[in-house]
Amino acid sequence: MKKNKIPIPISAEVFRCLQCYNAPCQDVCPTHIPIPRFIGMIRSGNIFGAAEEIKSANSLANICGKICPEEIYCQAVCTRGKIDKPILIRELHDFATKFEADKGFRKPVIPDCLAKKPAVAIIGAGSAGVSCAYELLKLGVSADLYDILEKPGGIPAHLIPQWRIGAKNLARDIDFLLSYISKPKILSKALSIAKLKTKYKAIFLATGLWLDRMLEINGEKMPDVYHGIDYLALSRSNPGSFSHYSQVVVIGGGNVSLDVATTAKKLGAEDVTLTYRRSPRELKTWKAEKKAAEEAGIQFVFQLQPIAILGIDNGVKALLCQRTKMLNKLDKSQRRIAVPDKTTRVEIPADAVIVSIGQDSSVQLDLPIKQNSIGGVEVDENFTTNVPGIFAGGDLVRGEGTVVQAVADGQNAAHAIAEFLKNKK
Ligand code: SF4
Repeated sequence: MKKNKIPIPISAEVFRCLQCYNAPCQDVCPTHIPIPRFIGMIRSGNIFGAAEEIKSANSLANICGKICPEEIYCQAVCTRGKIDKPILIRELHDFATKFEADKGFRKPVIPDCLAKKPAVAIIGAGSAGVSCAYELLKLGVSADLYDILEKPGGIPAHLIPQWRIGAKNLARDIDFLLSYISKPKILSKALSIAKLKTKYKAIFLATGLWLDRMLEINGEKMPDVYHGIDYLALSRSNPGSFSHYSQVVVIGGGNVSLDVATTAKKLGAEDVTLTYRRSPRELKTWKAEKKAAEEAGIQFVFQLQPIAILGIDNGVKALLCQRTKMLNKLDKSQRRIAVPDKTTRVEIPADAVIVSIGQDSSVQLDLPIKQNSIGGVEVDENFTTNVPGIFAGGDLVRGEGTVVQAVADGQNAAHAIAEFLKNKK
């Protein structure tokens, strides 16, 4: 058989891998992709085999190949990093899955169970929900997917900027999986978990966190003031509506706020400033994302507490802040507490302000499902809530997380649900 030709830098990279026994990279990956195995396959020219290995472990393999934060997972623990530098694992993953996708998809082998009455309702057609439905299908269980949005795909389809994922990769994962699962049903009325429970044997809640947190300061409801999730969704569906802004100030200190800031820059703003109330030490962003934002020209200003958004002529004029002091005391999130110095005033000129300080769940639970300390849903190690037959996973359980973690939750919850259904019989 003719060997597939491997580009030179990729071939150099695969030969740097030590093929560790008990590979820490694989262990730390939420979906446990067999990393040394797929790297070994690329080495021998079996790139289709490498892609199959990745896809069998991770149902959103094309998306994760583009956006997975390798610096907190596989590459953070790569043994090769102790010698010189870690293997570029995400790049190798991306190379293999892209190679396979460019040559055409291979059909997965799944049981023909769509004819059976769906036993499970999955609420939320995002990374966790779609992955759960697909894994259930592989286990011979059919599920109905529900979502409030017409377009499925959750955060990758609606919020993560398109230049990071690429429309092709979305289709390669979401559309591909949905061609095996049935199309999501649209929830036109408020979700009633109690009602769904009478129709299905099990429910998986994967609704994520879509409600922007408010800063609760004067001027927050003015025109030209946006909130992170709404802004990212609008910038995907109607990018032209933001092209007239030239000075944008983003408030926040997480990865979502970096996406917001780089989006504002890409949409044409000359100056984009990201303000954070704590110091750089407390910033929750990933290094690679921050570096990319700095390279895109985003300015970072630290230790500023916003106190009002100032307006002029029915629009935004500036963000008014107070400087903060960092205490040597930690809060619940284990970060130093920032205390505003009320004697100070800093005005940052702006014609648009975007508040991106975190998200909460917008789902109203009409069953007594126990909530966790972060306002999400509490589950045990089997993704089971306190109400028998109701499971949950993804951001709704963990708070803001990664796509790969949501995929892992969806896939693992599918196994727990299949086991539950088996025992119920
Ligand atoms: Fe290869 Fe690094 Fe994984 Fe070891 S830890 S198998 S060197 S990628």
